[in-house]
Amino acid sequence: MIDQASLAAAIADRASFAEAMFEEARAASADVEGVTRPAWSAADMAAARILEREAKALGLETEWDAAGNLYMTLPGQDRAARAVMSGSHVDSVPRGGNYDGYAGAVASLVVLAACRDLDVTPPVDLRAIAMHGEESVWYGIAYVGSRLAVGALPAAELDRLVRADSGRTLAEHIRECGFDPDALRKAPPPVTPANTRAFLELHIEQGPVLIDRNVPVAVATAIRGNVRFPYARCLGAYDHSAACPREYRQDTVLATVELVSRLERFWHEQEAAGAPDTVFTVGKFFTDPAEHAMTKVPGRTDFTLNFGATSKDFQEAARAEIHRLAEEIAVSRSVTFELGECVGSDPTPLDPVVRGHLRDAAAGLGIGSHEMATVGHDASIFARAGIPAAMVLVRNQNGSHNPHETMELADFIEGVKVLGGAMLAAAANP
Ligand SMILES: [Zn+2]
Repeated sequence: MIDQASLAAAIADRASFAEAMFEEARAASADVEGVTRPAWSAADMAAARILEREAKALGLETEWDAAGNLYMTLPGQDRAARAVMSGSHVDSVPRGGNYDGYAGAVASLVVLAACRDLDVTPPVDLRAIAMHGEESVWYGIAYVGSRLAVGALPAAELDRLVRADSGRTLAEHIRECGFDPDALRKAPPPVTPANTRAFLELHIEQGPVLIDRNVPVAVATAIRGNVRFPYARCLGAYDHSAACPREYRQDTVLATVELVSRLERFWHEQEAAGAPDTVFTVGKFFTDPAEHAMTKVPGRTDFTLNFGATSKDFQEAARAEIHRLAEEIAVSRSVTFELGECVGSDPTPLDPVVRGHLRDAAAGLGIGSHEMATVGHDASIFARAGIPAAMVLVRNQNGSHNPHETMELADFIEGVKVLGGAMLAAAANP
């Protein structure tokens, strides 16, 4: 069995291999600023095909599932034993950063490449995976590729989910990329607890904490769940801005502002009362450009609400508070709130044993690390499917979901060392 220090050295030697894949993917999906890789688009598939080509060059086994997820396998000594899997998504938000997701897919291949360089045959298969549709911006729900990999997306969704930019269904896009949505309706899922012993995901942090703590990596403690209203709207009445007195107005902007500001107060109160790791975001808030005007009372406002938390109790409280406030404000301001579909996910605890492998690898290699909760990632889908999952987060600059997101290659390599050490530990663990 290979020791972690030798593996770490081989991973460091693969820095330019990783960098070349990052730059090639960036060039293949460059937008006006940043990168745009819509889930199941040419740019998204191009990013995956870079990985496939390099995996083949390394002599790894490569395979696509019916959804177009890519698997790259370094065969182990016992081919029948449950594999250790690592990877992430290759799609991005519009004009997003190159490393959100792609760093994790590249990282998993770098670990396999380093094992190849050392001529190591691990005790069990090590598998890298590249997935699609993690970003909810494309189909309105997140983790589409990982859900398909573990069989956690009902078949009807293939025809119901519509991509935001094209208006066409998930099934159509999967077929257009050369894969088989009909097989997804019948075939058993490719990734199960019976064939996969652990799932480890490297992901950029997407926040400021590791910069502040001055450490390159963190081991995630849990994945926040969400309570989201992606299609909420407030309906009132358009009116003359000067001629309509206050008591006759049905002003949807002021009503929605009140709702949002009272939800912010609720969030702060809950935090003060000890609810851990909670966040609240109103990412969209707009009037209709076809109808709005400075001289009109706004009769319609569309908006989104998005709470995140590691506590299910907080999620329930937030959902109840949204409904309670919407009802109250609708009456006091003579408007109607149509909150629309409530989507989201439960918080996901990560596996203590696999988290321990990551912590031990960081400590054993002398890499400074931190522990913190993180946001929704593909790892949560594997965890919910019963596969022990854990995540290593890598320090990155300028947040994420914006074109200025970036990451130091040296920090990435530290993260891959931790990932690789933990993958070997998981492979050795029965
Ligand atoms: Zn991501």
